[in-house]
Amino acid sequence: MNTESRKQALRHFYTRVVEPMGFKFTPDAEMADFLLEQEVKLEARHGIPFCPCQPIRHDRARDMQIVCPCIPFHRKHFDAMQRCWCGLFVHQDVTDPDSLPQLSAKELGLE
Ligand code: SF4
Repeated sequence: MNTESRKQALRHFYTRVVEPMGFKFTPDAEMADFLLEQEVKLEARHGIPFCPCQPIRHDRARDMQIVCPCIPFHRKHFDAMQRCWCGLFVHQDVTDPDSLPQLSAKELGLE
């Protein structure tokens, strides 16, 4: 499968997973395309579409928490930001993703 068709397949699958959680793909199409492409590269290298924005630690339990879409593992944090850590997904009512800062759980008082 080439990169473009894998990106499309991930997009299709992710949409079905994130929508019931109240998220959607960022309306920033260029950003979404870039991040999906990074995930396809990570999947080609590791066999799993890991998060492009979080470090792989080679600790299975922790690494499974950064397999995209990792929203269920970081629900409180991402709901507070209205976006996932990378910004690939945002809350469904978000129209201006640039207005949503990337804040750590600690900065948000969640740790
Ligand atoms: S932060 Fe976003 S892009 Fe990264 S794995 Fe989680 S849901 Fe996917």
